[in-house]
Amino acid sequence: MSPLPVPGRPRSAPAAFAAVLAAALTVLPSGAAHAFTGANHEDITRAALPWEPVTLTAMADAHDGAVNANDRRPYFDVGTLHCDNADYLAPRYSAGYPRTRDEATTELLACIRTSVARFRNAVRAAEGLVDADGRVRADQSDLSTPCTWDEKPGRAKCAVLEQLGRGWHQIEDFYAHSNWSDRPAAGPIGLGNPPGLERTDHPPFLDIRRYIAMADADWTRQAREGIPADLATGCYPDFDSTGVKPADCEGRVAHNLTLNKDTAASARAKTGDNFRRATAGATAELTRQWNDFKAELLTAYPDHGRGAQMACALVHDDPAAACP
Ligand SMILES: [Zn+2]
Repeated sequence: MSPLPVPGRPRSAPAAFAAVLAAALTVLPSGAAHAFTGANHEDITRAALPWEPVTLTAMADAHDGAVNANDRRPYFDVGTLHCDNADYLAPRYSAGYPRTRDEATTELLACIRTSVARFRNAVRAAEGLVDADGRVRADQSDLSTPCTWDEKPGRAKCAVLEQLGRGWHQIEDFYAHSNWSDRPAAGPIGLGNPPGLERTDHPPFLDIRRYIAMADADWTRQAREGIPADLATGCYPDFDSTGVKPADCEGRVAHNLTLNKDTAASARAKTGDNFRRATAGATAELTRQWNDFKAELLTAYPDHGRGAQMACALVHDDPAAACP
């Protein structure tokens, strides 16, 4: 299926993404914090997943975990892998805000789209964990040497962990980068103090498992309807979904100065209990995503209990013994 031309987006999404990745390779390190720090991603991921220790470390580790692979270059500079640049302020807060609600929503949908693609890849890669009769393939689930997150073919378990980790990173980031769970600071709402939505439920637009079976146009329509009018993430000087990299975030709700809760020490994180709200939201969300992935394996691979064996092989460090 060839993509329809979209006004203002002359290149197809995959081509744009490839160009962004290529361009990102030439970008110098900025040193700025971006995303929950690796340690915060680790804490959230460990709290969310009931996995055995070696497997959990492969996913969660602050430096080498799959969930932190998107914070390595060139992925680091791709805004859609961190749900950046969905910044917006309604006219009642800021007359003439330089971005429209639709542009902000487009960036958020582009971020969700990366998680949908990774979820699909992970379901596919999981099939390599077991044979046709549902027996765990020991060589494919062995973690006695570390996985490398390089998107190259290898052990099935490494491939599943990489696809899941690269799809979950931005979902965790969403909580650190958006105002979904926030309270605003006291005083007027505006550029330096965007509204907070104070939500504690699962965002309806992160229903990744449901989206994987749907056409892009269909799930994006549904997801769009669930995005609150005042939802925003921060502007960050990385590449947005159209391949544009803002020189700065002047006049926009900025990630670095304003909205991020990447560390407990940021101004927005220190507003009330915003840091706890963001980490609690991300943790509950990741548990949901894992449960949805497990459920999808059972649905996708019902014969000989293969899907259940795949899930067993994922959570156990020695699945050949633990999943007879
Ligand atoms: Zn990130």
